[in-house]
Amino acid sequence: EGKFYQFMMRTKQPAGKVPNKLYLTMDDLANTHGNGTLRLTTRQTYQLHGILKSDLKETFATVIRNMGSTLGACGDINRNVTASPAPYANKPEYDIAQELAKDIADLLAPQSGAYYDVWLDGEQIMTAEKPEVTAARMENRHGTNFEGSPEPIYGSLFLPRKFKIGVTVEGDNHIDVLTNDIGIVVVMRDGKHVGYNVYVGGGMGRSHRNDATFPRAATLLGFCGPRDILYAVKAITCTQRDYGRRDDRKQSRLKYLVESWGMERFKTVTEQYYGKKFEAGVELAPFEFPTYLGWNEQGDGKLWYGVHVQNGRLRGEMRKALRNVIERYELPVRLTAQQDMLLTDVDPAWKADIMATLQAAGVKDASEVDALERLSMACPALPLCGLAITEAERGLPEINARLRTTMTKVGLAMSDDLVIRMTGCPNGCARPYMAELGFVGDGPASYQIWLGGTRAMTGVSSAYAERVKVDDIETFFEPIFAMWAQQRNAGEFFGNFINRVGFDALRAFCDSYVPS
Ligand code: SF4
Repeated sequence: EGKFYQFMMRTKQPAGKVPNKLYLTMDDLANTHGNGTLRLTTRQTYQLHGILKSDLKETFATVIRNMGSTLGACGDINRNVTASPAPYANKPEYDIAQELAKDIADLLAPQSGAYYDVWLDGEQIMTAEKPEVTAARMENRHGTNFEGSPEPIYGSLFLPRKFKIGVTVEGDNHIDVLTNDIGIVVVMRDGKHVGYNVYVGGGMGRSHRNDATFPRAATLLGFCGPRDILYAVKAITCTQRDYGRRDDRKQSRLKYLVESWGMERFKTVTEQYYGKKFEAGVELAPFEFPTYLGWNEQGDGKLWYGVHVQNGRLRGEMRKALRNVIERYELPVRLTAQQDMLLTDVDPAWKADIMATLQAAGVKDASEVDALERLSMACPALPLCGLAITEAERGLPEINARLRTTMTKVGLAMSDDLVIRMTGCPNGCARPYMAELGFVGDGPASYQIWLGGTRAMTGVSSAYAERVKVDDIETFFEPIFAMWAQQRNAGEFFGNFINRVGFDALRAFCDSYVPS
């Protein structure tokens, strides 16, 4: 018994930070308990696929003992808290965002010993939580806490649905901050940390043929000071706990509560738990979409090297070579929200050896990878995900290559690129509804096509076409790319162009298009 079951384990790494020892542990586990690969996820965590049932307890125990955690990785509680993972030593706002991600993860971690018992037979695990995090959890402002429960925030009911939080810094939307239930932006003014803009009600999941489900970008709730943020997060979480729908799982995410109440009512109720008013949100510089790949200065004399990992799947010679350099130089690692990996704290003297080791294993520098490939993401889908309708991870590389050929045919340059994301079902784990071009599986080898997301992922796109067959990719996209090539303003990104001309003009152009 057990041999016939395969499981997936997801770890929790706030801000994608992976200590050196944990990296080596996960790499070992992929050999001994997994399917020989490690999957980096869109929420800066690992997934290990292919674990046999009888091995589960030992696998979890190994990870927890080696400083990782599986707590809060799944279920109707707070998921991995994402944050811009760039290891800048000279930009304090990044450190503030990453620290806050860890504090929120601690604040909303299940307190019940049952979780530990499952994985570790009750072995005591130490946590290094800050006193102010404990205080925020325990303080019973305006009845936010369940008195007497081991779970002061979750009670016995936990949350109606999974709950996602992301933290970023002004101008940097690497993590897709608006796709979270709570999105937080660190605000600095004159070099000082003044507080946070807080956004609520983001979420990607939807269902085909159910218009009551939809992707939503989080909207501005307000601003709070540095010392209030944990209380603000707790108040929002408790509002969702008490008012989020529990009778219908397809309507239970925070986004539907925000949408049905409207922001004013949501804010008023949340402020009752928060115990004060949110200030008006601060005007921010526009977002950009950095990937952090290649060699970069940390600002402390050290370097980091961002390695592109195709769809987050670490395998074969690449996995071995990365392990070699990470072990040799005891490098801490960070996982990005683009399913890539940053090798950090690199002494410049090690750079040549690291490059030689990686190149000998065929690992390409990000600059040698087509930008379509570099910017794109796919979810695991078939054969690993039970909800998958069609391919994503296994299908996207070839589709990217065919899209590039089509772009070249209509006169676009190799320097022209766009953000492409693909998922095997409408659940949207790789956030396809924010991309400039989203493929959402809607049948065997067929996809809904979503267009109109922006380069910096600032708003949701719209469904442009249904049931586009993989075989028809070239004929479908040639006129669309031709219109972009012919009618765009100088340097205009694909998503911005689509939004400017609109679907009606695009359809009219495609209808009258004569292939060359
Ligand atoms: Fe599975 Fe759908 Fe998520 Fe892809 S988007 S991993 S198919 S649930």
